[in-house]
Amino acid sequence: MISGKNYVGNQASAQGPITFHSFDPKTNSENPWLFYEANDKEIDEAVKLAAEAFQIFQNITGKKKALFLRAIADEMEALGDDLIEVYMTESGLPEGRARGERGRTMGQLRMFADLVEKGEWVEASVDTALPDRTPIPKPDIRKMLHPLGPIVVFGSSNFPFAYSTAGGDTASALAAGCPVIVKSHPMHAGTGELVASAILKSAKDTGMPNGVFSNLNSNSYHVGKALVQHPGVKGVGFTGSIAGGTALFKMAAEREEPIPVFAEMGSINPVVALPSSLEKKGEYWAAQYANSITLGVGQFCTCPGLILGLKSPSLDVFAEALGNALGQKEPGVMLHPNIYQNFKKGKETLSAQTGTSVVADITEDVPPNVAQQRLLTVDGDTFLANPTLHQEVFGPFSIIVQADDASELETIIRELEGQLTGTILGEENELKEHSGVVEALKDRVGRLIFNGVPTGVEVCPSMVHGGPFPASTDSRFTAVGIHAIKRWARPVAYQSWPDNELPDALKNSNPLGISRLINGETSDKPI
Ligand code: NAP
Repeated sequence: MISGKNYVGNQASAQGPITFHSFDPKTNSENPWLFYEANDKEIDEAVKLAAEAFQIFQNITGKKKALFLRAIADEMEALGDDLIEVYMTESGLPEGRARGERGRTMGQLRMFADLVEKGEWVEASVDTALPDRTPIPKPDIRKMLHPLGPIVVFGSSNFPFAYSTAGGDTASALAAGCPVIVKSHPMHAGTGELVASAILKSAKDTGMPNGVFSNLNSNSYHVGKALVQHPGVKGVGFTGSIAGGTALFKMAAEREEPIPVFAEMGSINPVVALPSSLEKKGEYWAAQYANSITLGVGQFCTCPGLILGLKSPSLDVFAEALGNALGQKEPGVMLHPNIYQNFKKGKETLSAQTGTSVVADITEDVPPNVAQQRLLTVDGDTFLANPTLHQEVFGPFSIIVQADDASELETIIRELEGQLTGTILGEENELKEHSGVVEALKDRVGRLIFNGVPTGVEVCPSMVHGGPFPASTDSRFTAVGIHAIKRWARPVAYQSWPDNELPDALKNSNPLGISRLINGETSDKPI
């Protein structure tokens, strides 16, 4: 049952006067549940509890944290179809997506459980003393990663499970030993509350301290701002718009004690179609890209919003085929009227730019909040001269840019802002021939793709989901895969510390049996 209350630690709480409803974009009407925005007292209490919980939680063993994370996955599943129905009602997304995303979320939780159970993620490193070294003796120095402290996670609108309440940011922060306060996304506050109840039940069942998790509702910027500015908060995870992520990043940097904000924001995911790809497989790529542009109604951060090619008859044929394939796709309902309005505005703004022309458009009437996909084309010079055309339109929208030659292609890529992904379509021998284009793309993105589509982010250790600003606020980290845990930890060195008093990961006997760097050599043996 959805109560509409916040969870301040284990306590359900509704003290504030501000209330709101979530929205069903399919019926274009408010959902019945009434949510209570957290007030300042509840915000402060959640952070206070998290800071207290941190003193215990940071020292809980990897094995116990693993039990907690696995319990969350099990409890999410135990919520059954009720959870799936609320997700669908609050997002307009279909059942298959809801079940798939829940499975992915549970998989992420179990992946981090395995990681912390093994314990090697702390990157233990030992340099033993050389007391007889001249001219000065070398002390014993040992280093490992320690959790940062309470983390605020902003639920994202486009992933109500996988990047929200128990999503990748929360799972990785809890795994690191950081208590989490979720700023629930107002568009799916009911889904968030149900998942939060699963987390809190798991915390109680596995003996975690009160305050290890809180879930705060909000329908305005106030709660998010107050959390980011609270001195007890030590880091922030965010997925959403460039404007939102940048505002929070600046806020965090201006604090008396600045803290890191790991924001995953906008990207238009450039795709470079080299000549052979269009000459030999133009129809094939047109079908693949029509699917990718419309997948999830274009509401993925990896949606391909920019396709670059060299002016040629085969590019014209490809554009026509992609336009036709897009025209045959059934328009889908977007997550929320606000997201739909942003899509419509962005689409019209870019379409109104001088030099653009429409390749494909859906003009027939559609129900409310349903996105009519559109494909534009423009020549390289016009694109280069107009930064408005470089902006993300969140939804099923893309632009084909026709460059004069390979040199213009390279210049266009170098002029782009940072991106999550960059894709090359072509043959292996073309990579050398167009090495300037490939190098330019590598400088701009977090993930390079050869002969594929950017949508579909595999959860695995080698994945990089991040990229130069504004794709993310720190391109050294990834938001997907086990290495996402490193965002929530910092290295601490122990100098000449008594062996008995060291954390297990650094003790001579290596009681965890983990692989460590001992005097520069990897080893899982005791010292
Ligand atoms: P958003 O506007 O960035 O908001 C995300 C969250 O951040 C919300 O919970 C919002 O709080 C909070 N927030 C935003 N600006 C803030 C500020 N200045 N101070 C404090 N809190 C702030 O994203 P959205 O609502 O999910 O969607 C809006 C647009 O973002 C979309 O149309 C799309 O263009 C873009 N978007 C992009 C991606 C991507 O992956 N590239 C993903 C999602 C959204 P409240 O909701 O409580 O007001």
